[in-house]
Amino acid sequence: MRGSTHAVIGANTVWIPILMGMVIEPWLFLIGAFTALLPDLDASESKIKHLKFGGYIGKTKVTIKPFMPIAVIISAIFGHRGALHSLVAIAVVAAGASFLIPHTSVALWLVAVLGYTSHLLADALTKSGIEFFWPWKQNFGALPRFLRVKTGGLVDTLLLLIGSVSVLLFLYQYVGSFAL
Ligand SMILES: [Zn+2]
Repeated sequence: MRGSTHAVIGANTVWIPILMGMVIEPWLFLIGAFTALLPDLDASESKIKHLKFGGYIGKTKVTIKPFMPIAVIISAIFGHRGALHSLVAIAVVAAGASFLIPHTSVALWLVAVLGYTSHLLADALTKSGIEFFWPWKQNFGALPRFLRVKTGGLVDTLLLLIGSVSVLLFLYQYVGSFAL
């Protein structure tokens, strides 16, 4: 799947704590979108590698790509759709997030982990699949091979569109609740 599709699917993981009856902060969708980009730190080219932050120092515009160095290192060590696209990675993210995130923020932890996991599920729908049981070097898909989709193809685009509408609906309900 394309980076933008991953981000949008990850953003939609906010619906899960909502369905579980949790009250969540509206900005949590950004956490889901961000963690959904993390697995592609192992790709030679990815959205997260080129994520830019910038500002002005005096009159000079300065932009940095903070994830570029780590993406170069991780892609060289692990290779694409290997370790970072595996069950081991989900366990590491879940454990890491429980250290970094205060125990009171269950929804934040949940969205961070679900955002990451959503990336793996989306990639498992594509033709090449993922090494889900890494270090076992076997590619797995979530569907029979003939039903799997092409990255950048029609299903990818449809997921991006439907996911974007769903994120807008999520944001709209907050705007609506502020307006009332
Ligand atoms: Zn991926």
